[in-house]
Amino acid sequence: MPAPLTRLATDRRRSAYLARFALDTGRFFEPRRTDCPWCASPRLHTRPPSRAGLTSDECRDCGHLFQNPRLTPEGLAFYGHHPAAPHPATARHHHRSAARALLPFGEPESWLDVGTGDARFPAAAREFFPYTAFDGTDPTPRVLQARAAERVEEAYVGALATPALTAHLRARYDVVSVLRHLEHTADPRAELRAALTVLRPGGHLLLELADPAAPFRTGPPPPHLLPAPNLRAELRAQGCEVLTAARRPRAPFPASYRVLARRPLVLTRAARRPVPPPPAPPAHTPARTPRSTGPVRPGTGDPTP
Ligand SMILES: [Zn+2]
Repeated sequence: MPAPLTRLATDRRRSAYLARFALDTGRFFEPRRTDCPWCASPRLHTRPPSRAGLTSDECRDCGHLFQNPRLTPEGLAFYGHHPAAPHPATARHHHRSAARALLPFGEPESWLDVGTGDARFPAAAREFFPYTAFDGTDPTPRVLQARAAERVEEAYVGALATPALTAHLRARYDVVSVLRHLEHTADPRAELRAALTVLRPGGHLLLELADPAAPFRTGPPPPHLLPAPNLRAELRAQGCEVLTAARRPRAPFPASYRVLARRPLVLTRAARRPVPPPPAPPAHTPARTPRSTGPVRPGTGDPTP
């Protein structure tokens, strides 16, 4: 008996999708790494693939967990990048809780939110710090819209670790916040050192990261998952004082941990060195240059001269 027409159509669509998928997947992935991007150990253990079919390796020496092979920008666009955003009211509650962590240290003059997206966090933090000037960076132009909506005063598109941007913002901020962003960057250590570089001596760094010990229920796992001890060790290696032990925020982000650190008055030599480029960049990955390395004029999205 011939198959029903609807089933034939569905089968044809599925075949076409699978054929396109099979042809395209090579462009979605970078070459596979054979060592840990955090400590360079070759002792890797491959975890079972996620529901989306992405595989992660865990370093047997330092516990760093990372997507391997890593997704290219095209791959990120296909699989999705961040997990689904929580309800705005829930996110606001969470942002207020994160901002309160800075209350014991007085009112900062300047605050940079790294990976700010639509700058919802600065908008929430302003309730506690009404006289603070908030700026934001983001890999996407969403931060320009946030600038137009006056949720941040200055907007920068690109990775903070881009040398021109790090140099432009060096030692400018009393507080730098990096919430659920470091694990999504190509090189979390470079972005972390850049965050310290743009802090004034004695300034505060507020970090929140996905916890590798917690299960991921939505979306693909981030490119990197840093165990809290690795992060604290890196901060101490840069001379920072870790002010709070890793502490899990309450719902809706129980799968993350938060760390507050103070930048030393003098950065260590390692932190002063220019940040090296991410290891083994693939030839087909476009360079991550910011569209704007200067303040953005209101309403234009253009850098000021
Ligand atoms: Zn490692």
